[in-house]
Amino acid sequence: MKKTDADALEKISRLREVINSHNRRYYIENKPVISDFEYDVLINDLQALEARYPQFASEKSPTNRVGSDLAETSDKTEFTQVHHKYPMLSLSNTYDKSELLSFNEKIKKVIDKPFNYVCELKIDGTAISLSYVNGKLVSAVTRGDGTVGDDVTRNVKMIPSIPVSLKGDSYPSEFDIRGEIFMPWSSFEEINKRRNDNEDAVFANPRNAAAGSLKLLDSEEISKRGLMSILYHIVTLDVFCESHFESLMLAGEWGLPVSPYSKLCKSIDEVIDYLDFWDNERKSLPYATDGVVIKVDNLNYQRSLGFTAKSPRWATAFKFKAEQAISKVLSVDYQVGRTGAVTPVANLEPVLLSGSTVKRASLHNSDQIKMLDIHINDFVFVEKGGEIIPKIVSVDKSRRGNDLIPVIFPEFCPDCGTPLVREESEAKQFCPNQSSCPTQIKAKFIHFSGRKAMDILAGEATIEQLFNLKYIRRLSDLYKLEKDQLMTLEGWKERSALRFLESIDKSRQSPFYKILFALGIRYIGETSAKNLVNHFKTIEKMISATKEEFLNVEEVGEIMADSLITYFSNSDNIELINELKEQGLIFAQIDQNKSIVSDKLIGNNIVITGNFSVSREEIKRIISLNSGRVVSSISANTNYLIAGDKPGPAKIQQADKLGIKVISEEDFYKLL
Ligand code: NAD
Repeated sequence: MKKTDADALEKISRLREVINSHNRRYYIENKPVISDFEYDVLINDLQALEARYPQFASEKSPTNRVGSDLAETSDKTEFTQVHHKYPMLSLSNTYDKSELLSFNEKIKKVIDKPFNYVCELKIDGTAISLSYVNGKLVSAVTRGDGTVGDDVTRNVKMIPSIPVSLKGDSYPSEFDIRGEIFMPWSSFEEINKRRNDNEDAVFANPRNAAAGSLKLLDSEEISKRGLMSILYHIVTLDVFCESHFESLMLAGEWGLPVSPYSKLCKSIDEVIDYLDFWDNERKSLPYATDGVVIKVDNLNYQRSLGFTAKSPRWATAFKFKAEQAISKVLSVDYQVGRTGAVTPVANLEPVLLSGSTVKRASLHNSDQIKMLDIHINDFVFVEKGGEIIPKIVSVDKSRRGNDLIPVIFPEFCPDCGTPLVREESEAKQFCPNQSSCPTQIKAKFIHFSGRKAMDILAGEATIEQLFNLKYIRRLSDLYKLEKDQLMTLEGWKERSALRFLESIDKSRQSPFYKILFALGIRYIGETSAKNLVNHFKTIEKMISATKEEFLNVEEVGEIMADSLITYFSNSDNIELINELKEQGLIFAQIDQNKSIVSDKLIGNNIVITGNFSVSREEIKRIISLNSGRVVSSISANTNYLIAGDKPGPAKIQQADKLGIKVISEEDFYKLL
C-alpha cells in the first residue's frame, strides 16, 4: 500500500474509533463530552476522507450507520428488543444555508414539477416509534440501531400527551407514527437541581435527560419526569392521503400531539424565512430545539427520492448553533464552596435564554477568564449547558467601550484571606484553610445536616448562629451541644432546643452510606456513597483501600478514586471520623438481619431482574451476606435468576434458553 493510502487508512480508522466512542457516550451513557457541532465536524471530516479514498469505505462506518442507543450492558437490557417494521433512520444535516440550496437543487433534479416543502422544528429529544392498531396504542419502541429498538411501551404509557386510544374513526387500521420524546426546560432544570442537591451527576442537556428517563426501569418515576411528546411522521401501508403536511393535520385530529409550528412552504426562500424566524423565536419556546427539519411534502415524491443507508433523501435537518443570548457583565463574585474551591460567577444584566431569565453565569476558573479575555462591562454570549447556571462562551469584542474593568482573580480567599492554591491537576484555585475558613466550615455543616445526609434540623441560619457563637467548628461538635447553649440562640425556646437535640440524637442511627455522604468528600454524591458502602461495608476497609480497589466499585472513576485517596490520607479527616465514632455514629453497614448471614449461596452466581418488595440494593446485599455473587449478565455460569415484579423479558428468555433456574423473591428467601 502507498504511504499516502496507509496514512489515510490510519486517519479513517482513528476517526471511526473516536466517533464510535462519542456515539456510545451520547446514545448509551447519555453523557456527551463534546458539543453536537464538534461531533458533526468529525463526521464531516470522516465523510470527506471516505469520499476521497472509496477503497476504505465500509458499511460499518458511523457515516453509514444510525447511532445506536441499545444498551450493551446486561443490566440495562431489561427491555425486550423489537424489530422495526420500517427502519428508523437519521437525517442528513447542515449548519450552512448554501448546502440547503444544494439539497434543493438535488431534489429538483429528480422531481421536475413544482413541489412544496414542510418545515418542522427539530425538537431535541429522543426518537420514538408508536404503533397503533385499530386506534389503540400497542407498542412504543426506541430508535435503537435503526433496525431493532427497545420496547418501552410501559414507560411511554406514563407520558400524558401520548394517547392510548385515538379519537374518531378515520385513522388507518394499522400505522406507526414517529416522533420525539422530550423534556421541557422547566422539568430539566428541576430534575438537575434535585440531582445537584443530592450531589448526583446532572444531565448535560434535556435530550440526554429525556433519553435517560425513557430507559428507567421504574415506570412510576417516569411520570415524575415531566416528559412530553411531539409526533412528526406517519408510516403505513394504507394510502390515506398524499401530503405529509395533511397527514400531520389528520394525526392532530385523532388526538395525537403534533407541532402547531409546522409550515407548508412553497419555495426554498420560504424555507429560509422559516429558519431565520425560528433561529431567534425558538428562545422563547419551553423546550430545546436544535434545528429545523425540511421535508418534501408530497408522499409520492418522497417515495421516488427514497433513502440512503442512513437517512431519507427527501428530508434534511438545518441545525442551529447552540442557543445563545447576549448580556452585559455587571460584576464578578467569587464563591467559596464546601471543599474550598473558588468559583468565579458573573452577574449579568437579566436576559431571556431558553425559556428562563438568566442573571448569573459561571466563569468556571481563572483559565477561563483569561481565555475569554473577559472584562466587567463586556457584552458576552451566554449558553445553557448541563450546569445549573449557564456559561459564558465568548465576548463580543466589537461592542467594547471605554468603561472596561479587568477581571482579576483574587490571590487570597475572599472569605478568610488565606492565599489560594492551585494544584497541578486542578483547574480551580482552592482555599487550603479547610479547618478554619468560615465559609467552608459553615458549608460543611449545612451539607452534613442536609436531609439526604444526617437530616439534622439545622438550616443555614442556625448553622450561622452556632458558628458565630463559636459553638461549632468540627462536625463532631454538633453532638456535644447542650440545651442551655441552644437556648441562647436568637428566638430559641426550650421546645426548639429539645427538638433540635432530638434530631441530632436520631442522626446517630443514620445508615453508613448517609454518614459517608455527609462527610462531604469531593465528588462523592449520594449514589456513589451507597455504591462504596455496598462494596466495602466498613470505613476501615475504605481507609486502607488502594486506588485500584476504589476503581472496582460501581460508577467510581479516576477522579472519585483520587479524591477518596486524598481524603483518607489526611490525618485530620481520620481524626474526625474517630471523633464521630466516639459520638456513636456507626461507620459500617449494619447487618439488620443477622440470622440470614451464612455461606448458603457460596459458589453461586446470581442475576436479579425486576422490582422487589425491598430495594434491588437490599437483595444484592442479602446475596452477598450469604456468600453468593451478584453478576449482571446471564451466562452458562449463572446459577439462579431471581425474578421480581415486572422482570426483564430478555433476561427471562435468556435464562430459559440456557436452562437457568428462575426463582421468585419468595423462593429466594426460602432458599436461605
Ligand atoms: P439527528 O438528531 O441530527 O436527526 C435525526 C433525529 O431528529 C431523528 O431521529 C429524530 O429523533 C429527530 N427529530 C426531531 N424533530 C424531527 C422532525 N420534525 N422530523 C424528523 N426527525 C426529527 O440525528 P441522530 O442520528 O439522532 O443524531 C446525530 C446527531 O446527534 C449528530 O448530528 C450530533 O448533532 C448528535 N450527536 C452528538 C454527539 C456528541 O457527542 N455531542 C454524539 C453523537 C451524536
